[in-house]
Amino acid sequence: MPDWCHPITTALDQRRTPCKVFFRDDDAGWEDRRLFALLDLFARHGVAIDLAVIPAALTPALANALLQRIGRHGRNGIGVHQHGHTHVNHETQGRKCEFGASRDYAAQRESIESGHGVLVASFGSLADRIFTPPWNRCTADTERALRDLGFAALSRDVTARPLEGATISEIPVAVDWCKLHPAGAAPQALAARIGDALAVEHCGIMLHHAVMDDADLALLDQLLPLLRRHPMCRCVAMKDLLSGERLTAEPSAAAP
Ligand SMILES: [Zn+2]
Repeated sequence: MPDWCHPITTALDQRRTPCKVFFRDDDAGWEDRRLFALLDLFARHGVAIDLAVIPAALTPALANALLQRIGRHGRNGIGVHQHGHTHVNHETQGRKCEFGASRDYAAQRESIESGHGVLVASFGSLADRIFTPPWNRCTADTERALRDLGFAALSRDVTARPLEGATISEIPVAVDWCKLHPAGAAPQALAARIGDALAVEHCGIMLHHAVMDDADLALLDQLLPLLRRHPMCRCVAMKDLLSGERLTAEPSAAAP
């Protein structure tokens, strides 16, 4: 076991029931070459990965490439769901938000609905009815629009404030890989956070392939087999965490 993984194995060793771990990679549509390198890595280790796809950035070539990979590795290997339609900030002040207070229910609903149309046209029923807002931020109007459009879940940061009146399922991420492991940094802070996040029932790890370098992939190359083999860890897809859905078996390892 690599030294940096010590907090992670310690956290898992202390569990009595398996922790369900998922990886959410944001911004599919940007930097395809890096996306494919990440997907190759996850396929090699037989670990599921969920892609938050930017509908406006989804080219036919990328959609076809993802469909081919889903065909090879199965739906439990790669999940696709909806990210912000154009991934642009609409706020004039404060923190960046595509689905923030500057846009009302009608504007947000139209944006989500048109983005959903793009994903369904490309992936059909393979598109999971999960929504990840850019920067993990949205409003109560976003949640209401998602419910009205039949979405099953919203994925934000685990520290995000509850939304007023919200009833949709949430699948939060607890680890921001790129923030915890900036270029050139040692992986200790990242490992400590993952270890902390493994103390609860679900552990969501957020990736951003577009800004991840070879050092990030090398760490994942060490982490994934550890998670996959540990008896107190189950690597799952986000859709497996939706209530009423069965917990599917891990995908088998296969060459990309
Ligand atoms: Zn994003």
